Amino acid sequence: MKHKFLKIKKKLIVAVLLCILLIGLFCATYFPIKVSSTPKPAHTIVIDAGHGGRDGGSVGVNGTIEKEINLEYSIALRDKLVQAGYNVIMTRSDDKGLYDENATNKKISDMKARFNIIRQANPSLVISIHMNSFTNSSAKGALTYYRTGDPASRTCGNLIQKSFNTYCNARSTSASVGDYFILNCSYYTSVLVECGFLSNPEEERMLNTDEYKNKIVNAICSALTLYFGNSVN
Ligand SMILES: [Zn+2]
Repeated sequence: MKHKFLKIKKKLIVAVLLCILLIGLFCATYFPIKVSSTPKPAHTIVIDAGHGGRDGGSVGVNGTIEKEINLEYSIALRDKLVQAGYNVIMTRSDDKGLYDENATNKKISDMKARFNIIRQANPSLVISIHMNSFTNSSAKGALTYYRTGDPASRTCGNLIQKSFNTYCNARSTSASVGDYFILNCSYYTSVLVECGFLSNPEEERMLNTDEYKNKIVNAICSALTLYFGNSVN
């Protein structure tokens, strides 16, 4: 008698388990969990290679021309950011100034053209690439500047500078306010990096190596990962 009761109980448990399984299968088929398949829109970043065309920028102690090395670093940064999924727009991708050949003031004409590219891009960030120069040849290290009075530009600039301090042996410092047209011509988050000093012979040599270029590019990219991960939705 006891044995028979146990048998019935067993059958009941199997039946209940089967029912649960069938209900589960039914729910999974007709009420699938909705997973959003819409990817987050990529952030647009404008990379501005400083100078170009008749404006060479500064010249290194051993002859490096700033406009040329700015472009090399900008292209390397573009490639790395595109690989990371960002939408990148360059203000220039060859050695041409952006000025109108007939303009009387080519510097203003060039700056206006850069501003128009930024405005049309509606970017999450503008990053301008330059090389530094100073009368004292011992000055060295990558430095970051940000748009006056803009907390987002300041946050981003400080993250980049921190990254330079860590990965590129830059002297321990914070980003500074930069009085540059490219930073203050729009309301977009804007930073300007001076990757190193062409007036320092050792740094000029280093800036011309792929190894250092990659260090700078990687430092900027890891700072932007932090910036877009933490500061921008
Ligand atoms: Zn410059």
